[in-house]
Amino acid sequence: MSGAILVIEDEPLVRDLVAFNLQHAGYAVQTVTTFADGLSQLLQRERYALAIVDVMLPGGDGIELVRRVRQQGISTPVLLLTARGESTTKVRGFDVGADDYVTKPFDVPELLARVRALLRRASGDHGFVVGGGGGGGAPRFEFGGGRYWIRFDSGLAQTNEGEVTLSDKELRLLEQLVRQEDRVLSRADLLEEVWGMDAFPTERTIDNFVLRLRRLFEPDPESPVHLVTVRGRGYLFRRNP
Ligand code: CA
Repeated sequence: MSGAILVIEDEPLVRDLVAFNLQHAGYAVQTVTTFADGLSQLLQRERYALAIVDVMLPGGDGIELVRRVRQQGISTPVLLLTARGESTTKVRGFDVGADDYVTKPFDVPELLARVRALLRRASGDHGFVVGGGGGGGAPRFEFGGGRYWIRFDSGLAQTNEGEVTLSDKELRLLEQLVRQEDRVLSRADLLEEVWGMDAFPTERTIDNFVLRLRRLFEPDPESPVHLVTVRGRGYLFRRNP
């Protein structure tokens, strides 16, 4: 499975911030600092799940880099890092085939949300970092001894109620828990990751979503083994009880 995210950025502080936070969120990350290195890495077809490309690079322009990569028929999703107020840069970026951009200085949750969205949009072609699951089509994440599975790209899942399509929020909540399997996530963390800037739900909202997910993904929803409450701390996901 192709997996790593390539970060092409020469400014050490930005590069480290991006790499650290992506790794913390469970992604494999590789970094390079120049136009030439970025180009040669990306021209190795299908190797990366996503590229995060700074526009101002030693040796060349990040937009020119994207143009050359697309010219070679490589469809790796690209997120551009642009400087504030460079609206022409954004237009040029989209013109050459960049998929999205964030403006520096950016908020980490926003960057992560855009990364997630791009990886999801890329369907199965570039792989998804969690799970595996053989066969054709998008990878699916299996647990409970194969009783349950989730396709994180389409939201389709095998549940106690048969095959259902999960809502975006249900999917993102599960994604957070699954990515950080066996680690306790607080309600506040989950609210920030899943709801972000959308709204201001209460922590009770998380509890209600978890109750719904237990009806779908627990052999006995009253005695959960996968979506476990850790009293006073939050929730954790366990693939195998
Ligand atoms: Ca730069």
